[in-house]
Amino acid sequence: MISEIMSSEFAHATPATDIKELQEMILAQRQRFIPILEQEELVGVVTRTDLLQQLVGNNGTASASKSRLKRKNLGRLLPEIVPTDLLERLKQLGEMAEKFDHKVYLVGGFVRDLLLRKLNDDIDIVVEGDGIAFAERVAEQLKGRIKAHRKFGTAVVICPAGLKIDVATARIEYYASPAALPEVEYASIRHDLYRRDFSINTLAMILNRSKFGQMIDFFGGQRDLKDRSIRVLHNLSFVEDPTRAFRAVRFEQRLGFSIGGQTERLLKNAVAMRVVGRVGGRRILNELRHILGEDQVVPALKRLDNLGLLPFVSPSLVFDADAEKLFSAAEKARNWFELLYTGEPFEPFLVDLLCLFDRLPRRELKRTVVALEMKMSWQKLLVDEIVPARKSLAALERSCMRTRQPAASKIYHWLRPLSLETLIFLLARAKTEEVRRAVSHYVTSLRHQQTTVDGHALTAMGLTPGAAYAQILKSLLDARLDGKISTAEEEIALVKKQFLK
Ligand code: ATP
Repeated sequence: MISEIMSSEFAHATPATDIKELQEMILAQRQRFIPILEQEELVGVVTRTDLLQQLVGNNGTASASKSRLKRKNLGRLLPEIVPTDLLERLKQLGEMAEKFDHKVYLVGGFVRDLLLRKLNDDIDIVVEGDGIAFAERVAEQLKGRIKAHRKFGTAVVICPAGLKIDVATARIEYYASPAALPEVEYASIRHDLYRRDFSINTLAMILNRSKFGQMIDFFGGQRDLKDRSIRVLHNLSFVEDPTRAFRAVRFEQRLGFSIGGQTERLLKNAVAMRVVGRVGGRRILNELRHILGEDQVVPALKRLDNLGLLPFVSPSLVFDADAEKLFSAAEKARNWFELLYTGEPFEPFLVDLLCLFDRLPRRELKRTVVALEMKMSWQKLLVDEIVPARKSLAALERSCMRTRQPAASKIYHWLRPLSLETLIFLLARAKTEEVRRAVSHYVTSLRHQQTTVDGHALTAMGLTPGAAYAQILKSLLDARLDGKISTAEEEIALVKKQFLK
């Protein structure tokens, strides 16, 4: 029965309740909607979405009803920015669009960056009609491979020279009014573009030969590029998809733009009403990864902190001056390691996460990696290595205070359990030059040292295999690391002297 699962303790209001009071109720009670009672009778409900809409009003977003098509020809700009072979490919797509009677548009980052006079080699196209059929023809003509997701009407064509074309389908919209009207002629692509995150990402360019290079701008994307503004298309944009809050910060910081006033209010409301908390961990992690992959990470993290977005990554996460210092040091450490060109697999994102999560209590850290749905190997690295890493760092610090230069064998055994990512993190975390020197000595040299003598050699020398072998091999390695011996003969001599009586 419903009575077994229903909640009967919830806040309610009356038609006379003040909006501010209602907002408090929704926030404090974490209730998604408030029933409105009049003389104990249910007369309506107010949802969180209704409240958001009421709070932010209607100004300043590119509301669909207000949108007006703006066109411009990019024919002159294209050859200035786009290399000839890529431009030829785009024209080829336009020829095929014409031949197969589809309308095909280039959309997204490519067009945005073109107007900013930068090349973006992400080729995203939208096809009015059957996108997958078009992608198949493109693959055939360009001798590429195709991967299609029929459920979503999307495909990726991978061409021999490495060019990748993402193809999406715009559902064709049918209208009773004459198709000569631009609103009707472009209804499908407009509908597709309206689902996008920010006005600057809604610009599209026609590829069809007859109109090749014509840009269409429904939602004021050009104006916002000029004003250097990140603006959502409608008031419920962040409610519809709260990951856009992270994306707004990413584009703002990457392009050196500002999140528009109204858009920032909407974003802050989405934070205050905790709609951002509804996003699955994997998607948050994905956005964070994109942000940490940008050139300017520190300003972006400061901005996330300032907008209250970090607690959606982990409840007590902050980005303060200490965190900033750690990040800058980690960047130097990463650059140093990359310049070693060791070619070893290494995940810079994990170094950033180690820095970001540095001051989280262990319990929260454990909960966070699970909530963010990280793969197990990352969870293990972030959670299980942190305690040994802190202990090793403390041991190194103590030892460096006493002797300035700890024995290489000691450094080796303190640092050996740690991954490359954690070692780079420790380089950033080290407070003194001596500790940094010890860690970098381990990374560049000590960790590669090996003994020449192995278990087989010990048996050949007449020793009985067993647990003692590990101890003997460790003594040999320590002697090598500390420079007491350096050749196979010296190793054998040491075994004979110490272990063969
Ligand atoms: P980049 O330059 O980093 O590749 P991009 O603009 O190509 O950035 P993507 O994340 O690759 O951005 O997304 C491609 C397009 O898909 C964007 O231009 C954007 O319009 C749209 N998009 C992506 N994520 C969302 C989202 N959460 N909500 C709405 N539109 C989105």
